[in-house]
Amino acid sequence: MTAHLESLGHTVITGDNGQQALELYESASPDLILLDVIMPVLDGHQMARQIRSTYQDWVPIIFLSGKNNPDDIVAGIESGGDDYLTKPINLTVLKAKMGAMQRIANMRHQLLSTTQELELANHALEKMAHSDGLTGLANRRFLDQHLLRMVGQCKRYQQPLSLILLDIDHFKAYNDLYGHQAGDSCLKKIAKAMKHCIRRPVDLAGRYGGEEFCIILPDTDSKGALTVAKSLQRCIHQLAIPHQGSKTQPFVTFSAGCITATPDEMTEMISFYSRADKALYQAKKNGRDQILTES
Ligand code: GH3
Ligand code: MG
Ligand code: MG
Repeated sequence: MTAHLESLGHTVITGDNGQQALELYESASPDLILLDVIMPVLDGHQMARQIRSTYQDWVPIIFLSGKNNPDDIVAGIESGGDDYLTKPINLTVLKAKMGAMQRIANMRHQLLSTTQELELANHALEKMAHSDGLTGLANRRFLDQHLLRMVGQCKRYQQPLSLILLDIDHFKAYNDLYGHQAGDSCLKKIAKAMKHCIRRPVDLAGRYGGEEFCIILPDTDSKGALTVAKSLQRCIHQLAIPHQGSKTQPFVTFSAGCITATPDEMTEMISFYSRADKALYQAKKNGRDQILTES
């Protein structure tokens, strides 16, 4: 049988019993299984059942057996077989059945690769839907979703939730002086520094809009939030992106408003933004290049 199948161009791997065949199935991922019914250790029906209950993927099984009662054929199909050939095997019939199974195998391969491509495309789409095109940070939509989730989580565990809203100082002047493209590149540098400063997986940095950014810090008190904001401020100072149009410093700076609260039943997610925005407004008013925490 092996010689005949090989002469038809197939690669054949053989096992002596059902148990061995199961191991081969795992390691070799065959396109088709030709299965005897009566075998030591694990018989054909048991093996077929095991394959069908363990793997979602459907690989055709053809039973080969000396038994040719209708009941035997039914038992083979019911245990998970797709076809049944009685011994002695007619090689012409076997060849025809192999052709039919080859069609199924081809379709299965096509389906597998399409599924894989779809999964990759879905993954890419999901990432795109969540991130800001220019900076690669979370976009506003994802920030909102994450904040809503974190307000719920911090409410449940009675933990403080901190939010930092920051805005680049005199950025209109930066664009006017250096051009919009340089402005974009500056935003990217700021975003990169933000990614660097955010370390815990539950923390999230995103682009709130335009030249405004937001950092969400669950389970973080006001001292922790101030530490994050200050370390980002240090990073941006170190970047020292020249800004001759700034009335604050000869380099790019930002102002930030921080808010920390332990959410309760009355807390609305939006209040985190509005309270941080008030603190940010005050930081701007006080002279920019500073971080203000809601008092
Ligand atoms: P302030 O210190 O008060 O924040 O002054 P500002 O000039 O930064 O604030 P304003 O709101 O007047 O201007 C924001 C500027 O940010 C104007 C806008 O052109 C620029 N901006 C917003 N989004 C982008 C962007 O994606 N790319 C670039 N290059 N500039 C942007
Ligand atoms: Mg602004
Ligand atoms: Mg600004």
